[in-house]
Amino acid sequence: MNQKLKFITLAAGAVLAFLLIQHFANDGEYKPKSTIPEVVETKIAEPIRMFGIPVDSFDIDRKVVKEGESFGNILLAYGVDYPTIHQIANEYKDVFDVRQLRSGKPYSIFKNNKDSISSARYMVYEASPVNYFVFDFDEKASVYSGKKKVSVRQKEIGGYIKSSLYEALREKGGSPGLAMSLSDIYAWSIDFFHIKKGDYFKVIYEEKFIDDTVRVGMGKILAADFKHGRKSYYSFHFQKGENYRDYFDEKGNTLRKAFLKAPLNFFRISSRYSKRRFHPVLKRNKAHLGTDYAAPRGTPIMTTANGEVIAASYTKGNGYYVKVKHNSTYTTQYLHMTKFAKGIKKGTIVKQGDVIGYVGSTGLATGPHVCYRFWKNGKQVDPYKQDLPEAEPIKMEFEAEYKLHIKGWKERLDNINLKKDSKPSVYMASAGWVRINL
Ligand SMILES: [Zn+2]
Repeated sequence: MNQKLKFITLAAGAVLAFLLIQHFANDGEYKPKSTIPEVVETKIAEPIRMFGIPVDSFDIDRKVVKEGESFGNILLAYGVDYPTIHQIANEYKDVFDVRQLRSGKPYSIFKNNKDSISSARYMVYEASPVNYFVFDFDEKASVYSGKKKVSVRQKEIGGYIKSSLYEALREKGGSPGLAMSLSDIYAWSIDFFHIKKGDYFKVIYEEKFIDDTVRVGMGKILAADFKHGRKSYYSFHFQKGENYRDYFDEKGNTLRKAFLKAPLNFFRISSRYSKRRFHPVLKRNKAHLGTDYAAPRGTPIMTTANGEVIAASYTKGNGYYVKVKHNSTYTTQYLHMTKFAKGIKKGTIVKQGDVIGYVGSTGLATGPHVCYRFWKNGKQVDPYKQDLPEAEPIKMEFEAEYKLHIKGWKERLDNINLKKDSKPSVYMASAGWVRINL
């Protein structure tokens, strides 16, 4: 084969592989209609590998596990004998329990194409878009697990908000996860229910890919600009070491309060703080000095601010509960948990947003919810009526570095085109963030 022809064949193969992977990728996430054209790089010198196996030597069947189909069913059809199936199921139970095979998940059978009788040499089962298991049916059969390489790309989008941030993001190809992360960053500074005419967003964020082609989720937001009314709210991600990271505005001020608005991400407020309410279990009027958030059992409960756990205990009324002391002024408590999060006990130091337990209905509760209680100077108060303290601004020692860090990000944000037909820009990590023109 001459070089050119070989290249075309390889490229066509790569495109086909990409289409197949795309087709079978089932990450359960929202996929925008307009997909970004992908760059498929093909190197001529190296053999193409899938899951580390050179594809040249095999005929590959890519399928999806059907309802009711078992590991044995699949392999018997490919000429793998009972003893081998049995051996793999027993000897490699710790690597992969064959009962864990799930319908709807993709698998590939690599058939020996050099043999006169086509038989399976490998089966690759994709448990998730990233994790897979290889079953090798060589003389001594074996099983091992693998991980696809996850690459990160930066993406920038921007647009005017007409109805909601969620809609505006969707129009531009953003995911619900991105809407969540953005609204988290701006939870205290922007009222998303009162969007004004001319409000817009601009955001630069990370997207994770496997094989450089299949999107497996979003990373973090790196920088954003939210124009609300007359004011531009910039926010920049800044990280120093393992433990110091936060979002700050262009002056290095924090965008958030020292407390989260709620201890849950998704919830319905079922009862507010009140000095007098009818207690559903005790059947009498009693003050309710907390806020009840109803959510499905097992929903993670977060500490609303940094602090130290001063109780992780049980009482008949509270059920399993956690109490966190934030400083000499503020303390919070979380009741009716089904269980505590790992490592949560008296003395544990927790950070805002850390999971401390899971929603349940232990103690005096009619259904799964968390009762959130808030103390200021030893008195139980309604957190929604407090003027809560701001979180810390950028540490003095990092101020100069921060100013330098955000210069480029701000420029990039300011250059994002808000026009409706503008396409998102994608930056690739491979060569020091190179912009790809789409
Ligand atoms: Zn309550």
